Amino acid sequence: MKSKRFRKTLYILLLSFAVVILAFASIYLINIYNIDRSYYQAYNAEGKVALRKFPYPYRAAMTICSDIDGTTTKEEFLEIQKFLNTKEETSMGEGVGLEIGNSFMMYAPPTCAFSYFSGNPGSAQIIGKFIKAGYIDFLHSYGEKDDFTRKDAIKAIEELNNNQYKVDVWVDHAKTPDNLGDDRTFGLGDHPGSIAYHSDLTLAYGIKFVWLGRVTTVIGQSVPITLKTFSSVYDSRHPVQSLINMGKEFAKNVLAVFGNKKYAMHKNYDLIRIAKLDDGQKAYEFLRFDNYWKGIATGATSKRLAYVISKQTLERLKKIGGYMVVYTHLGKNSDCSQVIAKETQIALRDLASEYERGNIYVTTTSKLLNYYLNHKYLNWSYETKGDEIIITISSVEDPVFGSFVPTIQHLQGITFYVPDKDKTRIYINNKEITNIQRNPPDYEQRESVTIWKREGKA
Ligand SMILES: [Zn+2]
Repeated sequence: MKSKRFRKTLYILLLSFAVVILAFASIYLINIYNIDRSYYQAYNAEGKVALRKFPYPYRAAMTICSDIDGTTTKEEFLEIQKFLNTKEETSMGEGVGLEIGNSFMMYAPPTCAFSYFSGNPGSAQIIGKFIKAGYIDFLHSYGEKDDFTRKDAIKAIEELNNNQYKVDVWVDHAKTPDNLGDDRTFGLGDHPGSIAYHSDLTLAYGIKFVWLGRVTTVIGQSVPITLKTFSSVYDSRHPVQSLINMGKEFAKNVLAVFGNKKYAMHKNYDLIRIAKLDDGQKAYEFLRFDNYWKGIATGATSKRLAYVISKQTLERLKKIGGYMVVYTHLGKNSDCSQVIAKETQIALRDLASEYERGNIYVTTTSKLLNYYLNHKYLNWSYETKGDEIIITISSVEDPVFGSFVPTIQHLQGITFYVPDKDKTRIYINNKEITNIQRNPPDYEQRESVTIWKREGKA
């Protein structure tokens, strides 16, 4: 009798448990379904005239976002950039000629980074020159300065403004007081009550994009979530550790779906979200990628970048058509025999070949984020006039900094699929863009037109 009642209770308990699990699983799957549907809608290119996700002819887009700490001399910085940005002969052989940027700090001890106010002759000039050329495109916090106050931000911004040195990306550094992130990088820069408060001035200076410490091991952002999103974290060469990483990533995703704030960006793995700073201002927060098997913290070095941008990573990125901002420190190279680790030189050459073959669009962090944003909020329409397609771009409906009429500069890379590349015109409001690039069929067998203004190209 007793055992019968016990069995019944057990049965009811198990059944309730199963129902609860099933309910949670359903809620989770419905959320994922909605996320995936929103990506299909956002990047739907099925119409006769459609906005292509990436610039022609690329299938995916990425950048290497290298924090300057670890790069301690200007000579080292120049050699790294020469290898990345030119095809000239360097100490590591011919450069790869990619549009990969770098970062800077205003204040830093010489052991941390070569910096603007270092007093080291030439540093400020070099930083300025690279900012103007677009090859230094983000501020890696104001720097490493323990007694940082608002006055330091004022001094830095005055200097940058006086020289018209403009960057629009901010990346938090370690755990310095001027950071803008709270939960991972413990900053006070956006706390109005703090002596380190500066985010009102910093956003007014022109910062639009902020990185607040969030990193993912998932390859490729802004694509639908599938089982492979998580299973691709697994690496058979490091089964135990990579299984743990996979579990962690999935757990963050589940927590985010059920409302966890800290991991909110792991809910849909979009490249950018609108974030509210502590003082109420809004900015675009972006996610960075680092899947080093031993852990993110150890992976962001010159040597380990080779793993992070391995052939497998690039293959998957291409296959799913994702965006990606790769987190690293090119100057953390004390374990390398050359300025950039040998294995990473090889990986960068592979990346250059993907770029040259028209597979992966590689550009600076700022350009990638701006492209994503202008593409996402592009307000355009088309009409058919006779045998011509007339595309009219009227604005970029930027929900944070306000809508604006874009210039050709803002529209670099924007590509439309069209039925006939030679019978298409593009206008910004009433003004025709005269020098559009007309593209033969891409891998989808579709013709397109691109707004490009490259040096030396009409
Ligand atoms: Zn740093």
